[in-house]
Amino acid sequence: MIQNIKKKAFALKIEKRAFINGKYVNALDNDIIHKVSSIDGRDLSGISSCKEADVNIAVDAAKKSFEAKIWLDKLPQEKKEILFQLADLMEQNKEELALLDTVETGRSFKNYYFDSIPKAIQTLRYFAESVDKYYDHTIPPRPNVFATITREPLGVVGLITPWNDPLVVAIWKFAPALLMGNSVVIKPAEQSSFSILRVAALAQKAGIPDGVFNVVTGFGETAGKALALHPDVSGIFFTGSSDVGKKILQYAGQSNMKKVGLECGGKSPFIVSKHCNNLHKAAQVLAKNIFYNQGQICSAPSRAIVDNEIKEDFVKLLIEESQNYIPQDPFDIDTEVGCIINKEQQQRVLDYIEKGKNAGAKIITPCDVDLKHLCVLPTIFDQVDPESSIAKEEIFGPVLVIIGVSSMREAISIANNSKYGLAASIWTNNLDEAHQVSRELQAGIVHVNSYGDDDDTVPFGGIKESGIGKDKSLYAFDEYSYVKTTWVHLDTI
Ligand code: ADP
Repeated sequence: MIQNIKKKAFALKIEKRAFINGKYVNALDNDIIHKVSSIDGRDLSGISSCKEADVNIAVDAAKKSFEAKIWLDKLPQEKKEILFQLADLMEQNKEELALLDTVETGRSFKNYYFDSIPKAIQTLRYFAESVDKYYDHTIPPRPNVFATITREPLGVVGLITPWNDPLVVAIWKFAPALLMGNSVVIKPAEQSSFSILRVAALAQKAGIPDGVFNVVTGFGETAGKALALHPDVSGIFFTGSSDVGKKILQYAGQSNMKKVGLECGGKSPFIVSKHCNNLHKAAQVLAKNIFYNQGQICSAPSRAIVDNEIKEDFVKLLIEESQNYIPQDPFDIDTEVGCIINKEQQQRVLDYIEKGKNAGAKIITPCDVDLKHLCVLPTIFDQVDPESSIAKEEIFGPVLVIIGVSSMREAISIANNSKYGLAASIWTNNLDEAHQVSRELQAGIVHVNSYGDDDDTVPFGGIKESGIGKDKSLYAFDEYSYVKTTWVHLDTI
């Protein structure tokens, strides 16, 4: 039974220093990040604001640990046991981790405790369990000659993570990176560093050697950039905006051509055909996926492209469903949707809503709801020009645009007329249409009569400006390694 969430949350002892070479340390210049809670405005300042000099120390520690092979040479079974131990420790401390994330990001405790953190732990176990079941290959091109194809660790790997789902995304990256034998330096978002700093201590307790798992906190333009530019970092893996993703590619080019993995923004289309037999379910699924977590999800379906024949019925259902996602107190155990991350993000979303109105689109959801916390109401725009900024740009808020179409050809063309290509969805009960549209949609992930399907065994990642490479599944091991071919010639006997 979970009680007194709010009281416990503000009684937490929060570690705010970076974790480098097995120790919590202040930034060399003692600088800290100032910020306030989106829940009640209380002061949350104090995270170490690391700079290039701090990043250099962390990378150096990671490099030394890699070269000493203290982690690399552990047997797969040993690495697996240690990560299982970490998963157990996270499970035992689940409430504390959920409280830390709630306090810092304002997302609801319920989401973290029952959904996000259990998922993160499950992913850690999935990767740990897979590591000794994932084989390399041998090819025999000629008699007495064979080649082995082995996956080798990259060395020091930098992981830059976002604030919308702090531990889930960190584990998508650090679990396969560690299991491939790399040493990692994690740069969490400055808006959400508390939980990964706590996990660093748990990782040490689980048996990950000092220097192998480092967390450098700080701003993207300082700590993140220094990590991505560092010549001793052999791979940089990032989740965040497409604008920063492009910078990461540049940093790789400016430094050592390090391997890059990017999971960036989206403006994912949700197509509803006149052949969809279950408009109610489609409306339920769409509302959940766009309004959950205040729309702060890169793969949120933010463009509904709906056949004009069924649009009126669908929109009615959608407005009703949207009202299940009115933001409430994040500490209330029944709250589905909590706060938005901070005032700047709220303002950004409100600015987009103004732009939408100015471009002639019409808000069809209620606007007169009283809000107690920092958040934005679920907002649906109808009569949207597909070329307007609310239809083309990623808002990262609870804002949905509806675009009416009179044919599936038109729907596909609008869906693909985007610089993004993360996720997409087609709702239809016509089998031919389902196959053809899902083939034509330009997206890394396509859902047919569903949205947001999620499993550790299935890769996640986009195309176009939504990114490069995959998180999750066995494909993730390929990201954090390079392929080595070794030719072997045998003498005939
Ligand atoms: P969001 O829009 O989710 O805040 P960002 O792309 O701004 O996404 O941030 C995602 C992560 O990238 C954060 O950890 C942030 O600190 C980091 N970051 C931001 N700018 C840079 C940069 N110039 N170089 C490296 N990392 C950065």
